[in-house]
Amino acid sequence: MASAVSKRASGIELSITLALNTRANELKERGEDVVGLTAGEPDFDTPDVIKEAAKRAIDDGKTKYTPAAGIRPLRSAVAEVYSERLGVPYTPDEVVVSNGAKHSIFNALYTLIDPGDEVMILSPYWTSYPEMVTILGGRPRIVELDERTDYKLTPERFERELSRGRPRTLLFNSPSNPAGIVYGREELESLCRIVCDSQMSLISDEIYEYLTYDGHTHFSPVTLLPELKERTIVVSGVSKGFSMTGWRVGFALAGTDIAFRSAAFQAHATGCPNSISQWAALEAMTKGEEDRLRMRDAFARRKRFFGERLSQIPHITYPEPGGAFYFFVNVSKLYDACNVSGSSEFCDKLLDEQGLLLVPGSAFGCDEMVRFSFAAGEGELQRALDRFQAFVERYGG
Ligand code: PMP
Ligand code: GLU
Repeated sequence: MASAVSKRASGIELSITLALNTRANELKERGEDVVGLTAGEPDFDTPDVIKEAAKRAIDDGKTKYTPAAGIRPLRSAVAEVYSERLGVPYTPDEVVVSNGAKHSIFNALYTLIDPGDEVMILSPYWTSYPEMVTILGGRPRIVELDERTDYKLTPERFERELSRGRPRTLLFNSPSNPAGIVYGREELESLCRIVCDSQMSLISDEIYEYLTYDGHTHFSPVTLLPELKERTIVVSGVSKGFSMTGWRVGFALAGTDIAFRSAAFQAHATGCPNSISQWAALEAMTKGEEDRLRMRDAFARRKRFFGERLSQIPHITYPEPGGAFYFFVNVSKLYDACNVSGSSEFCDKLLDEQGLLLVPGSAFGCDEMVRFSFAAGEGELQRALDRFQAFVERYGG
């Protein structure tokens, strides 16, 4: 019998990152000796002040539909905090709260592209970007970057790509998932000028804005070139910085027209974000600073610890992450000795032989690589490194 599923839906793949995270948790629950560094989420508990605010919201009956774009106090707080942080004024009407940054990015794409439009995506990319563009009938234009430019888009490369035709939108992510790439002020400024001159729109995914290390600083494109505000959607949220991934609160900041359309789309598609989570997110934005800094410092320590040990393992190369909580490692020199044809088989073998679960680079457009998340306790990181080292020693000689 013919499937009832539409052609459009049958083309959608599972999110590998989410699927592998679930697999790691299931294996652990079954009591298997597995170490999983698949998680793209902080392992810390959500800070108590934030949890208390959610409990109060429930007790106070703040459990009804909210305005589609989010509760006014949260939009005001986001507008205030981000106007200061970005150095560009945003009003509460220019803030749309959604069910996580992922949802904000989907809304942003819906608002900025028409079917058939190209969206420029820099590879390695976060796994959901190309899928979202395709779901919306757009065409991902993948720009493959490599170690020769530190996995960064250079102005020369950008101009060359544009000479092949101007995509409607650039989907940009710094600090990046999976490689932890952080663009410095000057390099980002040059790219911003090109975006501005080309009249493209821009989605700037800044969900890892708080997590930078070793002297790296996060800059938003709108800070460096404020006139970009009218054609840019800045996306962030509370998931990574405040360890609130399951609460599902993200937000987008954009000029009034874009924000209005985005909220209108959201009003029909999903109604409004969860009311209780919004009150919790308000607490995070207004009183969460101390906890955020505590967690950020812990990530910085883990990054140092993890990087020091990883640097001693032979046969691998990787860009030094300046932000986020991942190491994206080229393991392709081991493929022949392991008798595998790519990152997915490599990860299967690593799981079979060492009980270590990583995310294959194929999920991010790079089949030579695998992704380690260091969003785990030091004991877990240590065990993961022991297992990875044993695997490399076995096959690397
Ligand atoms: N962008 C990037 C680059 C991410 O890694 C994630 C992680 N999930 C998101 C957006 C989505 O964040 P959220 O959990 O708030 O939807
Ligand atoms: N962004 C995280 C990751 O890359 C969470 C999983 C997801 O939302 O895809 O692992």
